[in-house]
Amino acid sequence: MFIDTVLLKVASRCNLDCSYCYVYNMGDEAWRTLPKRMSLATEDAVARSLGELLRSQGREFSVVLHGGEPLMLGERRLASLFSKLRTNLGLGCGISIQTNGVLITPEILDCCAEHHVTLSVSIDGPAEVHDQFRIDRRGQASHAAVEEGIRVLQAHGAGADLFSGVLAVVDPKTSPETIYHYFKYLCVPSVDFLYRDGNHSALPFGKSSVSSTEYGTWMSRILDCYVADAAPFRIRMLDDMLKLALGGVGVKEGVGLTDYGILIIDTDGSIKKNDTLKSSPLGDAFNETWNIHHDELQEIAVSQAFRDYHVAQRPTSSLCTNCSLLKICGGGMLTHRFREGTGYDNPTVFCADQTRLISRIYDHIAHYLSMESA
Ligand code: SF4
Repeated sequence: MFIDTVLLKVASRCNLDCSYCYVYNMGDEAWRTLPKRMSLATEDAVARSLGELLRSQGREFSVVLHGGEPLMLGERRLASLFSKLRTNLGLGCGISIQTNGVLITPEILDCCAEHHVTLSVSIDGPAEVHDQFRIDRRGQASHAAVEEGIRVLQAHGAGADLFSGVLAVVDPKTSPETIYHYFKYLCVPSVDFLYRDGNHSALPFGKSSVSSTEYGTWMSRILDCYVADAAPFRIRMLDDMLKLALGGVGVKEGVGLTDYGILIIDTDGSIKKNDTLKSSPLGDAFNETWNIHHDELQEIAVSQAFRDYHVAQRPTSSLCTNCSLLKICGGGMLTHRFREGTGYDNPTVFCADQTRLISRIYDHIAHYLSMESA
């Protein structure tokens, strides 16, 4: 079993208080007992252990600094952490930061450029969309500060290399065309659209029933903008689904049938399998007592518990295993399959949305082929 991605939670607190955040606002209070920042000793253990993992599995992986807000570590601590990671990992492993963008400074960007670290910024769209949910601890809007952070990033001498794109949480009540054109205006290189958390027993925000298609319809309209655009930014979910529909392989978790090995290391050094499961009631059942100070990542990667978790990501519902769209859809993310009583043995709660979107993808492919043959 290979590890593809390691999420490093270097700060357990955040300077924003987004109402949909699965870390702070989905009923999980574990963050209150964690160290606010990863200690230097834990950083040392993480860097050494990641180096061991790289040598042992002989395959590179991505390291993503997450939080909380990772830039709360500050420029000097970030520089020291990057240096340790690069010493142990060389330049082969990608290192990136998922940030809310508010604390981006030219000095932090200098440090990222020096250590070949990229940044993805969380922004949901224009102010009226973003500020509905992404507010600070005093309830104040954050959009202006985030957009300013993106401008600082783009203005940096190495900005084109540093800025990998944005991560946008979908609100299906908004206009997808407005959001698409806003990201064009921002000149982002790519957008990773993320659906809101939820499951069959606690429907995601904006979804009126399991069979409704608010998200699928919204993403289909984004797809229409994307296809009509002569110079679109990359959209990972659509790129992957289009590739899968044409017989290729995908790279995004929750799309297609490719297996993903993801581990999370928290600020206290504890190692977990999947953070997003915190938003479903069985989340705790997936947590072990592994810690970077007494367990080796390469041993965790081959452990039965990790293999079991890996296998659990594959859809088990007969609706999925017999579905003609399985190769493209993949049955969705594990956390979205949960239902009281049946656990994770269900299609994703976004099944109807996936069906709608994939059908639109096939419409576009058929249209393209008919134009080619005309
Ligand atoms: S979630 Fe729905 S569309 Fe996706 S594979 Fe399962 S049954 Fe098919």
